[in-house]
Amino acid sequence: MNILEIPRIRLGYYPTPLEALPRLSAAHGGTPVYIKRDDMTGPATGGNKTRKLEYILREALDQGCTAILTLGGPQTNHGRTTVAAAIQCGLKPVLVLGGKRPDYLSGNLTLDAMMGAELIFSEDREAAARQVIADYERRGEKVYCMPPGGSNSTGVLGYIMMIPELMKQLEERDLHPRYLLCAVGSQGTYNGLLLGARYFRAPFEVIGIPVAPLEPHQAEKMAAFMNEVSRRYDMGVTIAAGDVRLCAGPGDCPYTGPAYSVPDPETRRAMLELARTEGVILDPVYTGKAFRGMLDLLDRGALDGGVVFLHTGGAAAVWTREHLDAAQSDLLANCTICER
Ligand SMILES: *Cc1c(COP(=O)(O)O)cnc(C)c1O
Repeated sequence: MNILEIPRIRLGYYPTPLEALPRLSAAHGGTPVYIKRDDMTGPATGGNKTRKLEYILREALDQGCTAILTLGGPQTNHGRTTVAAAIQCGLKPVLVLGGKRPDYLSGNLTLDAMMGAELIFSEDREAAARQVIADYERRGEKVYCMPPGGSNSTGVLGYIMMIPELMKQLEERDLHPRYLLCAVGSQGTYNGLLLGARYFRAPFEVIGIPVAPLEPHQAEKMAAFMNEVSRRYDMGVTIAAGDVRLCAGPGDCPYTGPAYSVPDPETRRAMLELARTEGVILDPVYTGKAFRGMLDLLDRGALDGGVVFLHTGGAAAVWTREHLDAAQSDLLANCTICER
């Protein structure tokens, strides 16, 4: 089927805004920096999973599913967006999350619980998901099972189709940035953007900043996935591993910080810089790390010609207990706070 005609449901508000960051640009040598506000897609605080879910939920409804299950870390933004989207479509939301059942709900878990999702914690998420699906099926339900991040070959359509939206915004305003930069987690966003950039002949390159240490042969695996998607939708695009541009930062000081989702002072520094120069809030797990990487690349001249930063959302994680605890000392020490 032609990629332009694949059906989706509407969950978000588009086009998401494209804004300049003039004060930040000026502080980093004047390279033009723009931000594409996919943190404002909606629903339930929005983020990049919304565009993926528009295609995935359409597929789930077409298959006659009555419930939707996804897996992730306890603070998964994808899970929270899935819950909201499922409710809007009349599907039952089920999240299978890593680790032990918490006795305190913060960040995304607060929102998941407010929306009434079924939350299942397990050290072995795959096994738990299989059991839950079997239980649901015994009760006559049909479950659509999504991988972490919604990064299957249906979800990737969301970011393939963001490319024409962005190209139109750039054309209308006669802007010519050379790069589009995003955080890379389960890779669906980056893979979609790179495929879309090739398919629609975008005039910019797509750079990804990983939020966790790279796996061996990650670029090869991503290229193989993209080529499978290209074949599935007859896009006629071929991606080589060398086309996948991932910037992980210096080996002794990677942009990922110590590990996925672990609070990290360098990431918090980058978050404070954007908050204080432009009033835009990033998150400590994905966009803060990608932004930190972007600032380093800007300062090294690697983004000359201009860059669009894709804000993929995630601010609910600012209110995760461990991230709030970790941020207290720098926030209290670096703000004007007094009593009179
Ligand atoms: C999931 C997520 C990402 C990463 O997107 P992938 O498609 O999983 O690579 C980036 N930012 C935020 C806020 C996310 O929730």
